[in-house]
Amino acid sequence: MATKVDTAPAQSEEDAFRAEVRAFLAEHFPPELKGQSNVLSAIEGPGDETDAQRRWREAVGARGWGTPTWPKDYGGGGLSRRKARILEEEFARAGAWNPIGGMGVMMFGPTLLEYGSEEQKREHIPPICRGEIRWCQGYSEPNAGSDLANLQMSAEDRGDHYLVNGQKTWTSGGQWADKMFALVRTDRSDKHRGISFLLIDMDAPGVEVRPIRMISGASPFCETFFTDVRVPKKNLVGEEGQGWTIGKRLLQHERTNLSGGGSMARLMGPNLSDIARREGDIDAAGRLADTVLRDRIADFEIRWNAFLLTARRAMEESKAQGGVSEISSVLKKLGTKLGQERAELLIEIVGLQGLGWDGDGFSEGELERTRGWLFGKATTIYGGSTEIQNNIIAKRVLGMLDHQ
Ligand SMILES: Cc1cc2nc3c(=O)[nH]c(=O)nc-3n(C[C@H](O)[C@H](O)[C@H](O)COP(=O)(O)OP(=O)(O)OC[C@H]3O[C@@H](n4cnc5c(N)ncnc54)[C@H](O)[C@@H]3O)c2cc1C
Repeated sequence: MATKVDTAPAQSEEDAFRAEVRAFLAEHFPPELKGQSNVLSAIEGPGDETDAQRRWREAVGARGWGTPTWPKDYGGGGLSRRKARILEEEFARAGAWNPIGGMGVMMFGPTLLEYGSEEQKREHIPPICRGEIRWCQGYSEPNAGSDLANLQMSAEDRGDHYLVNGQKTWTSGGQWADKMFALVRTDRSDKHRGISFLLIDMDAPGVEVRPIRMISGASPFCETFFTDVRVPKKNLVGEEGQGWTIGKRLLQHERTNLSGGGSMARLMGPNLSDIARREGDIDAAGRLADTVLRDRIADFEIRWNAFLLTARRAMEESKAQGGVSEISSVLKKLGTKLGQERAELLIEIVGLQGLGWDGDGFSEGELERTRGWLFGKATTIYGGSTEIQNNIIAKRVLGMLDHQ
């Protein structure tokens, strides 16, 4: 008599990977970190990393899973997009978060992978993947914001090094950053082709960082001054004069991230209807009593989810065609506007309690909400204002104006 053979299908590669992630989470994710985060970010400041947070960062960094699709050779995860999605799903299921972040991950790393020399990639990418280095962005100057190509900070060729003089402003997290990626002027005879992309150590002699104090008392960004700062030639990314092209590519990565359609989407947290049901005035049927607000929340959630799906599709298409594109301007314009709308609805859900700025009458969560609403105003300015995105969309996406 024939013995019964177990005919269960062989475990697919994807199932095996899912199991591997689950085992990793069970072994390394400290349960006490569920729901919190301490992502290494130049914008948010250093924070005080607890032991558990450090262990979690190191475990994820060692696998390269904080930068899952980056090449393994440079410390990334080397995963396909499909596996990266599985990783994301499993992290979310376990209430775990990616501890590797900041400008190195969001903007500088992907740009260096495309334009950097082999030596530069080997030097700078692995510490980003391990979450060890904070990068800041040296683009804006007092007379070069929207008209970024007007930047004047100079880098003079002195043989084996550049001598850098000038000023940057609005440098987010400049006081905490280890390094800056900067746009500098190497030639005054050509506005765009006179710009180069340079990497500068923030502790180099001649770099002075002055935090800008805001009305809230916080200082999330700085003025940064450079006086006769020697920067080794090896820190030039690409060719001299290629900075405008490289700098624009970096902005596409920045805008894609700022849109909320990328990893930021998860940071926006639970959906508004759940929050409203938990915190708003509820009627006998368990629905939000304010019918107008209920209607607006439903309308928002539909548009937000449609945006997320569109953003995901646009990003997949861009990546399939070799990377980010001018579509990032469309995503940034829409995503930041929706983000502001969401912040406003969050406040309306809790009524006057959402308007606190200080004092005992408000919980920390309520105060956070006001700050989030106020900070949301900045999102349509940084990374290039909405008006500038409109110009880019008209010129480069819709082809409505002559290219310059
Ligand atoms: C919170 C925050 C963080 C930032 N972090 C950084 C950072 O880390 N590094 C960095 O380099 N920079 C940073 N910035 C600076 C940011 O990139 C600039 O603020 C932005 O590019 C706008 O430049 P600006 O402030 O000089 O405004 P301006 O360029 O003076 O613009 C003023 C207004 O005029 C409009 N405008 C200007 N030109 C046009 C035009 N051609 N067509 C239509 N409208 C126009 C703008 O949309 C805006 O409404 C940050 C800004 C903020 C708010």
